[in-house]
Amino acid sequence: MAIDYQRLAVEGVQSLSPYQPGKPIDELAREFGLDPASIVKLASNENPLGPSDRALAAAQKALSDLCLYPDGNGFDLKQALSVRLGVKADQITLGNGSNDVLEIIARCFADADDEVIFSQYAFAVYPLVTQAVGAKGVCVPALEWGHDLDAMANAITDRTRLIFVANPNNPTGTVQGRAAIEAFLDRVPANVIVVLDEAYCEYLLGNEYPDGIQLLPRYPNLIVCRTFSKAWGLAALRVGYSICSPEITDVLNRVRQPFNVDSIALAAATAVLEDEAYLQRSRKVNEAGLRQLEAAFERLGLEYIPSVGNFIAVDVGEQSQEVFQSLLAQGVIVRPVAGYGMPCHLRVSVGLSEENDRFVEALEHSLNKIRQGG
Ligand SMILES: *Cc1c(COP(=O)(O)O)cnc(C)c1O
Repeated sequence: MAIDYQRLAVEGVQSLSPYQPGKPIDELAREFGLDPASIVKLASNENPLGPSDRALAAAQKALSDLCLYPDGNGFDLKQALSVRLGVKADQITLGNGSNDVLEIIARCFADADDEVIFSQYAFAVYPLVTQAVGAKGVCVPALEWGHDLDAMANAITDRTRLIFVANPNNPTGTVQGRAAIEAFLDRVPANVIVVLDEAYCEYLLGNEYPDGIQLLPRYPNLIVCRTFSKAWGLAALRVGYSICSPEITDVLNRVRQPFNVDSIALAAATAVLEDEAYLQRSRKVNEAGLRQLEAAFERLGLEYIPSVGNFIAVDVGEQSQEVFQSLLAQGVIVRPVAGYGMPCHLRVSVGLSEENDRFVEALEHSLNKIRQGG
């Protein structure tokens, strides 16, 4: 008798579909016979500047110790973060990307039949980790593409254990102001954990936006998550972290794998925190790129969702899949977001000026072709 091994998987996992990453450059090059160097990838919100020189030098140096296990406590990186952020090292949990931390949080706080709240159009990892631990995801309809924080607070029940809030949100680029986040946190009972995912916070300019770390003393149920993947330009190395109370940090640390961040990643992340000029350049290039893309969308008569992240979602109509494919054929990779319930949008990451131009040209070409029915 043949055993159906897939049926042996726990229930939440049986119906799980894996996270869909952006298409890698080499894959597109193989499929379309393109020169990888000619391909523009604006699909995964990566930093278009390339890595910081300081990070590169530190990573090189760490290579000589490849035979050693990494520092399982990430002492140096936690020290550097603690100085930069004004928190204690025992408030920090390092992750293999902040995705890792998001998963650890779900495993620590949500069990079968518990409820986990997140927004429609929010980051895909929230429903994924919720389902993987067997909890029930409660997806609250968005308000003009952003989180409807009132509705999310209204969705809290006796079974709610965890609420994920992405601020700014991916893939919509929407953001909640300081007052809105505080009013929301005031409504959440102290026994419900709120995860404020600030993967793009380094791009926010202006203090009308909340800094989750400043809210921690007032809200002991708050966990703030951040990453080195975006503005700090280290996506390949997988380093993220959370900041919260020492009590919650202690819980997260029980589930965290002992060596979840490798030595090269630790060294590069520690070094990049010293590279303030890199961060400023990331911000500047991103600001300019957002304005460039907005202007292009307006010229092309396309609606977009105003974004504060390093990406922007643009409405290219019902034939978004054709547009996506046509862009691929022209060597431009963006991200379809139909899986997020946004079938007419494509999400494009902000590139260097010339990359944005390549994308806009290719987009215009695709749209013309489709309008002419060709
Ligand atoms: C990119 C992103 C992350 C971080 O991903 P890691 O590379 O795993 O650190 C987390 N949350 C959101 C909303 C993101 O867009």
